Amino acid sequence: MSGILVIAEQRRAELRPVSLELVTAAQTLRRTGEEVAVAILAASPDNFTQALCVTGVDEIVTVKVPAAEFDPDTFESAVGALIAQRRPDVVLMAHSVDSFGYAAALAARLGLGFATDVFKVERIEGELVATRGGYGQKVNVEVDFPGRSTVLLAVRSNVFKAPEQIASPRITAFDAPAVQSRATGREFIELSAGDDVDMTSAEFILTIGRGIGEEAKVPQFRELADAIGATLGCSRPIADAGWLPKSRQVGQSGKTASACRLYIAMGVSGAIQHLAGMKHVSTIVAVNTDAEASIFTVAKYGIVGDIFEVADELRRLF
Ligand code: FAD
Repeated sequence: MSGILVIAEQRRAELRPVSLELVTAAQTLRRTGEEVAVAILAASPDNFTQALCVTGVDEIVTVKVPAAEFDPDTFESAVGALIAQRRPDVVLMAHSVDSFGYAAALAARLGLGFATDVFKVERIEGELVATRGGYGQKVNVEVDFPGRSTVLLAVRSNVFKAPEQIASPRITAFDAPAVQSRATGREFIELSAGDDVDMTSAEFILTIGRGIGEEAKVPQFRELADAIGATLGCSRPIADAGWLPKSRQVGQSGKTASACRLYIAMGVSGAIQHLAGMKHVSTIVAVNTDAEASIFTVAKYGIVGDIFEVADELRRLF
């Protein structure tokens, strides 16, 4: 078994950014002489090859599938056939609504090692180790796969940085076997977040948590964020209450502040699920009345104080 197979993901004629992030994850695992092949399954796979020509990719495998939209049976069959033919030691795909539809079934059918929602991959003494959350993300769990010659990992998006340099990998085609799908596509409905903000690309974020107390306080922090040039983010209770759209939620079940360099957390306690989306930021400023709040463990600068007083002070400056 050798080589790493990345399953790129596309939706409605667009390559999903996680596809290139998987290429970076693959570099962490590749052993000397091992190749990274990226398979793209689509009705017109050739349309995606240019976008996949990045450093770290040795081969792009185009797989033509009949369905215009994602179809779990078709994808399970095609990816299964690819694995059977190539026998890679690692297969990487996105931890996404698509892979929810077929990855576990595929792993069970082929007897693969399997882990989902993986956010770290490494080789320890030559053995593959994947890290994922456990117990509702309260602990990090390291998973190894003794005795498995092929391991399938569904990797969390917005964790690895996509390669930026272009390259010229060879391009091959794979004929997927015909399959009778049990699913019928009826209609594609895009769920709008009602807000077009992209938290993953924001460089300066001001996040509000339950410490704001009530919905009526949101506008004053929105105005403050605008005044200081920050993107307004929130913790999960704020999004769950509908005070801000879900697209602004930072954390494990929200967005990762991938591009952020300055993160101001106001009235956020610093639960592990929130930290998962922002603890990597180089400059974190936390404001909380509770000196013991966990947010201070990741903050570079901490203010033990009232967010409304600090907000008023900041507003006076800008
Ligand atoms: P609290 O924990 O209630 O903290 C409020 C803080 O405000 C307190 O520390 C308090 O001292 C402070 N405060 C109150 N008044 C003031 C004041 N006037 N001035 C200053 N400080 C004040 N959470 C996320 O954020 N993002 C996620 O993606 C996410 N995903 C999750 C996924 C799972 C599977 C689970 C189980 C949970 C998830 N959570 C997530 C929820 C998480 O566990 C916490 O419940 C949540 O982060 C708490 O939000 P908070 O810090 O705003 O609220």
